[in-house]
Amino acid sequence: MVSIRELHRQLIRKERSAIEITKETLERIEVIEPKVNSYLSVTADLALETAKQVDAKIAAGEEIGLLAGIPIAIKDNLCTKGIRTTCGSKILENFVPPYESTVTQKLKSAGAVMVGKTNLDEFAMGSSTENSAYKVTANPWDLQRVPGGSSGGSAAAVAARECVVALGSDTGGSIRQPASLCGVVGMKPTYGLVSRYGLVAFASSLDQIGPLANSVEDAAILLGAIAGHDPQDSTSLKVEIPDYAKLLRPNFHSRSRLRIGIIKETFGQGLDTAVEEAVKKGIEQLQDLGAEIQIISCPRFRYGLPAYYIIAPSEASANLARYDGVKYGLRVEDPDSLLEMYEKTRAEGFGSEVKRRIMIGTYTLSAGYYDAYYLKAQKVRTLIKRDFESAFEKVDVLVCPTSPITAFKAGEKTTDPLSMYLIDLMTIPVNLAGLPAISVPCGFDGQGLPIGMQLIGKVCREDLLLQVAHAYEQSTNWHLKNPSLTR
Ligand code: GLN
Repeated sequence: MVSIRELHRQLIRKERSAIEITKETLERIEVIEPKVNSYLSVTADLALETAKQVDAKIAAGEEIGLLAGIPIAIKDNLCTKGIRTTCGSKILENFVPPYESTVTQKLKSAGAVMVGKTNLDEFAMGSSTENSAYKVTANPWDLQRVPGGSSGGSAAAVAARECVVALGSDTGGSIRQPASLCGVVGMKPTYGLVSRYGLVAFASSLDQIGPLANSVEDAAILLGAIAGHDPQDSTSLKVEIPDYAKLLRPNFHSRSRLRIGIIKETFGQGLDTAVEEAVKKGIEQLQDLGAEIQIISCPRFRYGLPAYYIIAPSEASANLARYDGVKYGLRVEDPDSLLEMYEKTRAEGFGSEVKRRIMIGTYTLSAGYYDAYYLKAQKVRTLIKRDFESAFEKVDVLVCPTSPITAFKAGEKTTDPLSMYLIDLMTIPVNLAGLPAISVPCGFDGQGLPIGMQLIGKVCREDLLLQVAHAYEQSTNWHLKNPSLTR
């Protein structure tokens, strides 16, 4: 699949129409889906209708934006008016939102062509997309393996060229980790940069929507289109959104030398040797590009995971209380009492991982344990934030692996939730601190599976992060490799 900019050029020169591009994408989806299973629904009619409108604009000589006519996939936890939004859960099997999320509304207004809604772990809880109530998505680089999660459908769709770009959501790593495992670019923006209005809530103080793309430039274009203040989201930031894509340069070119810090604690036990080597090579490359490299210690980084697995389930248990069979979603037939209706609806509608989180969260928020668990975890969260703050007194950007391992086989970790949780060790602290971070492809392991490098920035420094990631990407060939989709 070509870049957004190239497709845009073709569209305005009338070399190809938006209808043609859309049809090609839909045909590709038809061929690829039986192998990869990225989508929960394909919105072909709507896509063709949107493409028609874009073509009409072009024919009328109207100016179109970069995203007009570009095929895009949307994670199925983003509400799309009139289009089923399941969140990968049986409890929302027949939920058709009566309203549009802010991000999809912005994309609609930009003329982007939504081709479908992508698979995810139920309520975005998971790291492999195996927790979906509907299907298991395959990793395009090895169909026996998982794409990562929870935005596995979006990452796989981008990697398999079943769309040009996609949206995912990231609560503890769900954009960056699947991006890493599928060999694409994935970015989690600063908390509050992108409106969460219409994103089905998992853990509201951590959730952020962000782009998945085949290049940093495409990610920058998509981020620019969805970012910005929204009165519908009370945590939305009132900040100026720069034209991220315009600021990209093939090299660093900063007035002062760019300082990049390696997070010491992320290298060591549990890190796959191929991942370690690839990320270290990536760091050397950053140095060759002119960055000054320092080793930085974030001693409390490793408490991120346990703190997250208190805070996220606590918030989830409150957020998921709304699925009671009354307001919307599933309701079991013929219960004997109201209580039985609640219980049976939730027992049937939720999968085991979601139930586990609700139970943990209800426990940690209960009067007797609140101080010991929830409050303690919040204190740890503050300490992690301070680690980052002191790191950013010394450097401009931090670097570490995105995931300690490459894509694993489907079924390999489903019986061991703790080993599944561990995969997010390096992404979770970023969410706890509300910082922006991006995963860029930085190599392959011995089995040809992609590896990602994570760059973390200061609050609202997406511009700098994207510049560094772009300069790095342009000095490598990793992003140009395509999965064969045959094994
Ligand atoms: N894997 C993590 C979890 O299961 C993160 C999920 C996410 O970012 N949505 O909670």
